[in-house]
Amino acid sequence: MRRRKHSWQTGALSLNGTFDGKSLGSTDEEDPEIHSSCVSDTQSLEKKDEEDSLSSHLAAVLAVTSQPSATKNRFLEALNYVVLRSRIESGRTLTSDELACYGLPNLSQTCYMNSVLQSLLTLVPFVKELKKQSHQWRSHPKALLCKLLSDINNGFATKNRMQKKSTLFKFLRTIALHHPEFRNDAQQDAHEFLNTVLEQLSSVSTELRSMATDKEQSYTCPVEAHISFQMLSTMLCHSCGHKSENMEECLNLSVAPEDTIMQGIQLYLKEQLLDYKCHCGASQTTEQRSFFTLPNVLIIHLLRFKWSYFAAQKIHRPTCLSRELLLHTNQSSEKIKYSLKSIVNHLGSCTTSGHYICDGVYRNASQGDGNACWVTYDDDIVKETTFNHVCQQRQKTAYLLYYEKMEKD
Ligand SMILES: [Zn+2]
Repeated sequence: MRRRKHSWQTGALSLNGTFDGKSLGSTDEEDPEIHSSCVSDTQSLEKKDEEDSLSSHLAAVLAVTSQPSATKNRFLEALNYVVLRSRIESGRTLTSDELACYGLPNLSQTCYMNSVLQSLLTLVPFVKELKKQSHQWRSHPKALLCKLLSDINNGFATKNRMQKKSTLFKFLRTIALHHPEFRNDAQQDAHEFLNTVLEQLSSVSTELRSMATDKEQSYTCPVEAHISFQMLSTMLCHSCGHKSENMEECLNLSVAPEDTIMQGIQLYLKEQLLDYKCHCGASQTTEQRSFFTLPNVLIIHLLRFKWSYFAAQKIHRPTCLSRELLLHTNQSSEKIKYSLKSIVNHLGSCTTSGHYICDGVYRNASQGDGNACWVTYDDDIVKETTFNHVCQQRQKTAYLLYYEKMEKD
């Protein structure tokens, strides 16, 4: 058993060697055990099958990394299997080398940007759409943000700090062209930054769509296709019965930190009494909000900061981070299931200071893998964690939560 474990760990080191640019051959030569059989006579056939499978997957990882032309999907599939097996076998926390997942360096006080990018780029359908549309945004000068976001996404698999710093600097500078508040080095609010990024990404969609139509092609904006949704607000005067409806395009939902995330959403959707003068003379109406549409990714913003004229006070109330949410639109009673994929946390007591970190499901995990490990991104430090640990530790700090629509069973 011990020998088997050692053999696996040697394999993991070989994987590191690949990403560090070292020769795989030399690593193997240093430890001949990597080629030796790791099956003792007493092990069952079932265990041997399991190990053969692990060896073949590990071999696939090594083979694919040495062949740049090989398909990335095969590599990710094999890597994912190896990571999962290693977690079960070793019982220890994996390093970023073993996860082949690296962080983003801090430019000064840009943890707000890093955590927003790390949480956003954990969303597989969003990233896939961004890549899928590259032939449209690549040639458009106004769509530089799409290209930079794609470059940052590719940077998850590399260690090149200087290149990452340069890309992050360009990203921030592009955002600041239209939003000068992000021009200085001060700490910023992650929610405001997220909204700015999403708005700027979707602001070019009309031009890109029109350019694509001219070429008899089509363009799908990743933000519009996966993140935007519509909320319907219905105002009702209980004196005269006058009803008015207002549709709002939303990028996320700002809810109070209640005992659970769902309770926060329910409070948001609950009928509220408003001071509003109706034409009949009544001074109060009620407002009820409902989902007119639901997005593929629902981003929940917890209202942890109470703004006053002078400063913002942080609300540390713990909120149970539900792994799944069930929601429905006002068009249908059919419940849609969502699963938590990433979280931006604010550590500290106010918005102008403190530190942002991100927790997210392992990016290279197979879609729909309920057992996939989680990782914590603290700027350029990446560590393996578990969903249970995140749930326990982030009840008071979770600030932005990204829920992805689950496939129907
Ligand atoms: Zn009225």
